[in-house]
Amino acid sequence: MDLGIRGRQALVCASSKGLGLACAQQLAREGVELVMLARGQEALEAAAQSIRAETGVKVITIAADIITPEGRAKVLAVCPAPDILVTNAGGPKPGNFREWSREDWLAAVDANMITPIELIRATVDKMIERKFGRIVNITSASVKHPIEHLGLSNGARAGLTGFVAGLARQTVAHNVTINNLLPGPFATDRLLQTTERLARDSGKNIDEVMAQRKKMVPAGRFGEPSEFGQACAFLCSAGAGFMTGQNLVLDGGIYPGTL
Ligand code: NAP
Repeated sequence: MDLGIRGRQALVCASSKGLGLACAQQLAREGVELVMLARGQEALEAAAQSIRAETGVKVITIAADIITPEGRAKVLAVCPAPDILVTNAGGPKPGNFREWSREDWLAAVDANMITPIELIRATVDKMIERKFGRIVNITSASVKHPIEHLGLSNGARAGLTGFVAGLARQTVAHNVTINNLLPGPFATDRLLQTTERLARDSGKNIDEVMAQRKKMVPAGRFGEPSEFGQACAFLCSAGAGFMTGQNLVLDGGIYPGTL
């Protein structure tokens, strides 16, 4: 299936590994030129090189911390008007809310709410002018059903979701859509980190906690990042212009609701 986005340019944030990388890979397979970023240059360039080798698309890399105003300025100077924007950053730390200070909350809101909003603010009007834009925010299944040890994520991402719900209805008439992808447990480093923390807090062995987490997934397994990348590419496709303000859960069936 041709997604109709060959030759478009995508800015894919936090994309040297995990879900961001999977989105970049899949977009490149659809012929989309990439601007990829992460803080660590070495892993980022290695990821970009493997995408260039596989797909032949043009890939620019920028070492930047997307959570900081300086990092965003550096990225937007190189890529001021992408056709496709995938927002992403590291998730907040897990734990007990009694341990979190005001600074912890501000950091979570900065990373997982304000950063994507700032990137949207910088790019959306140029998409509107060109009558094409696809914005995908990588959030979390925690927006749909709270995850006990990830209160910072539950809270900060809900703020982004509320904002996007309003803006997405204003841009769609210009063929600019804004949607959120909500990952459940995907086999990435982030999953390992949160599981390590759970194991430490409960005094259990990490393999035991991993097995417990897997058992909670009706699919009987964790998600593969490539499955996430394919969902992202679909939301970015030319044919997805009538879908906006949606929250697509990819969780192997964990969320138990009928709707
Ligand atoms: P990951 O495998 O740990 O990858 C994180 C990526 O983000 C890396 O490329 C990292 O590179 C980059 N990054 C982190 N902070 C950054 C920053 N400030 N500026 C620029 N790049 C940054 O994580 P993941 O599993 O793909 O998770 C992606 C997002 O989905 C996170 O917000 C996570 O909380 C959320 N999520 C994941 C899952 C899951 O099961 N995997 C479930 C729910 C939600 P550098 O470190 O070099 O910057």
